Amino acid sequence: MTDTNTGGDVRLTGISKTYGAFTAVHPLDLTVPQGSFFALLGASGCGKTTTLRMIAGLEEPTTGTVFLGDRDVTDLPPYKRPVNTVFQSYALFPHMDVYENIAFGLRRRGIKSVKKQVDEMLELVQLGDKAKHKPHQLSGGQQQRVAVARALINHPQVLLLDEPLGALDLKLRRQMQLELKRIQTEVGITFVHVTHDQEEAMTMADQVAVMNGGRVEQLGAPADLYENPRTTFVANFLGTSNLIEAEVVETGGTEVLVTAGGGKLRVPGDRCTDAVRTGGKVLVGVRPEKISLAHADDAGQIADGRNRVTGRIVDSSFIGVSTQYVVNSPAGAELQVYEQNIERDTRLVPGAEVVLHWNAAHTFGLDAAQSLL
Ligand code: ATP
Repeated sequence: MTDTNTGGDVRLTGISKTYGAFTAVHPLDLTVPQGSFFALLGASGCGKTTTLRMIAGLEEPTTGTVFLGDRDVTDLPPYKRPVNTVFQSYALFPHMDVYENIAFGLRRRGIKSVKKQVDEMLELVQLGDKAKHKPHQLSGGQQQRVAVARALINHPQVLLLDEPLGALDLKLRRQMQLELKRIQTEVGITFVHVTHDQEEAMTMADQVAVMNGGRVEQLGAPADLYENPRTTFVANFLGTSNLIEAEVVETGGTEVLVTAGGGKLRVPGDRCTDAVRTGGKVLVGVRPEKISLAHADDAGQIADGRNRVTGRIVDSSFIGVSTQYVVNSPAGAELQVYEQNIERDTRLVPGAEVVLHWNAAHTFGLDAAQSLL
């Protein structure tokens, strides 16, 4: 099913929310491209739900404007906005069957012939065989799909999802993530999804806004955020970051050269914050799966040009798809290394002296003044 909606982007300009002396959301500019799957990601209390509720009209902004396309909807009540919300508590009508729950939005608008549209929705959420079931006869995931169908039946311009998978167990949540992504692709409506689960945001969203303390710390495609975090918060919130304290020694060319643990490391200039490019003490990071390990005796076989630091294995655990090592390094940090496809008899054992090496292109440089989590 392709939606013909051409409502435009969701644009927040200077949006903020204060409760008395407390600022839940600092003035924020954010554009959600039309037709995208957009995630607001952050820990509890970071302001993501408040931001979502301001888009819905459920919360009045203290400052700023909410645009849907070119239309300023800031002063419109929720029911007058072309927006619908799916909550974690599915809020289905318990006495109505699935069909009537989905038809509700159409009937309320006085539409009599609902069958074609409801059938289309039942097919979209793959519940055609459950039309006559009551909500209590459905699993959590099925109930959630009814809630999504009910919210989509009036073809909103934007669907807001507030931790919609929070009540589901892990396996079902993973299934529903893919399912919601499929539904969004099929209907082409803008989805804005609030979650504290970084894997969920990364799996589903085209773009993720990482929020912290009422501010967006970084906005980008999941892979960009993961590969090229701009703050220590983002680096640590999205996976394991391996931050190493370092000192800048050269900033001239396309790379920044730093010293860490007695060795030199190269950091691509475009993966450094402005503060790193001005020199001084910095943090450099590399993701655990980008690092390879060699016995110290074999260090001569490591290709030229790779970043390298020495270390000693302190822990190793085989977890099926990879072996995870913890390595103590003169670079000062307990570095995590995930190596895949390692035969068990070639595993490095605790105490082994090793060299950690990686493609310099995978290194990022962050401002050391930022606090670590
Ligand atoms: P969670 O995942 O726990 O819902 P969140 O990131 O969605 O967290 P918000 O619900 O947006 O966070 O809340 C942001 C901050 O604003 C929190 O510290 C919260 O306590 C505070 N807050 C929210 N609503 C109110 C209110 N009505 N009055 C006072 N403070 C509020």
